[in-house]
Amino acid sequence: MSSVLIFNAKILTVDAQNTVFEGGWVSFSDGRVTGTGPAATLPAGPFDETISLPGHLVMPGLINAHTHSAMVLFRGRSEGQSLLTMDGWYNSIREPELSLIGSDIGPAVALSCAEMVLSGTTTFCDQYFFAEEIAAAASQSGVRAVIAYGIVQLGNEARGADELSKAAAFIEQQRSADGRIIPWFGPHAPYVDNSEDLLRAEVAMAVKYGVGMHLHMAAGPEDNEHTMAQYGLTATQALSRDGFFRGRVHAAHCLDLSDDDIAIFAAAPAASVAYCATAGLRSGRAGACPAVKLKQSGVVVALGTDNVAANNSYDMIAEMRVAGLVASHREGVAQPISSVELIRMATIEGARALGLDHEIGSLEIGKAADIIAIDMTGPGYSETPDVETVLVYSGSGRDVAHVWVAGENLVRDRVLQRQNYATIRSSYSATYAEFWARVERARKVA
Ligand SMILES: [Zn+2]
Repeated sequence: MSSVLIFNAKILTVDAQNTVFEGGWVSFSDGRVTGTGPAATLPAGPFDETISLPGHLVMPGLINAHTHSAMVLFRGRSEGQSLLTMDGWYNSIREPELSLIGSDIGPAVALSCAEMVLSGTTTFCDQYFFAEEIAAAASQSGVRAVIAYGIVQLGNEARGADELSKAAAFIEQQRSADGRIIPWFGPHAPYVDNSEDLLRAEVAMAVKYGVGMHLHMAAGPEDNEHTMAQYGLTATQALSRDGFFRGRVHAAHCLDLSDDDIAIFAAAPAASVAYCATAGLRSGRAGACPAVKLKQSGVVVALGTDNVAANNSYDMIAEMRVAGLVASHREGVAQPISSVELIRMATIEGARALGLDHEIGSLEIGKAADIIAIDMTGPGYSETPDVETVLVYSGSGRDVAHVWVAGENLVRDRVLQRQNYATIRSSYSATYAEFWARVERARKVA
């Protein structure tokens, strides 16, 4: 792969010191960052390509730490329903979801990947059924993805066992494939959907394979109600008792964590939270994820959009904004999480949550060249001493102009390079129509 120099840009490295270079540069070669610096240290090259980006902010690619990419098929289809309660989820998602077939997944995930990449997301963490189809479509898009094989038992023991062995096969198979796809386990939500025995078996398998587990936790009152009634423990405490926190645990939502629950996260070797502020707000729940307290306790907190039925958008710049606003509202304090920190949560903290911080999340020598350039010459980006705040509170994923993943240029001048957006969109439109016609037929039979 060729060597590239990006220069004349404002560079947010998101390194430990949050170093920013005005009029700076970043270079990469063979998919890895080879240097960054201010204008005065601009290297002479030679480079295969030099790209001058005045008026652009160049930074590490954004990391969407929680979504379900196939669920774009449900966009705008669950309005007026909370997706953080079993009832709301079952009525608006699970019922039509039963009509999904494997061939629906590729076109849906391809569209989601295109939307994510075009708005600056270079890595996403997904959890759903049809993991193989998701992995195939994500791999074709060139984006980096942690794909957690979704396991839902729903009271059917044989189904749970069968799903577990399929999840193991998925992990074995994906391990040998392209390094941009990282297989994990994905219990949907503890106790409500999966039995204690199955959860224990999942932990044992995740530890054996050295992979993470991505699940929903304390998203709605049911998680805690269920375990409180059964064991007198919160869901987090019950999971801890079952050894869950021995492995890497990446938990989405976490609206209902007690101080003791937070202490369990903080004491665990590799536990993190995907704070999905928009999805939480939209659910109508009065509470919000205690992101500030989690961070103060030393827990890694990343940001996620959740599915685009619960959010309707994959725009991680908007998600940073909502995450910041919700934290202000929850704590009753103006901006308890700074814009600089929100950007870290959408980059390096996301990388830490996924166990990939040695590889991605900041622009530092030796890391993968997952880089985005945001065009700040348009409306909303006027002169400021605080570019981070302008990005978070006035920016948009629609201003992402260029994207590289592992040094591969996936977006150039807002146009997908590896794939054709129009083709992806028309394939998706056909799939969408077929899927919902199938749902309607099933409803007539039922
Ligand atoms: Zn979710």
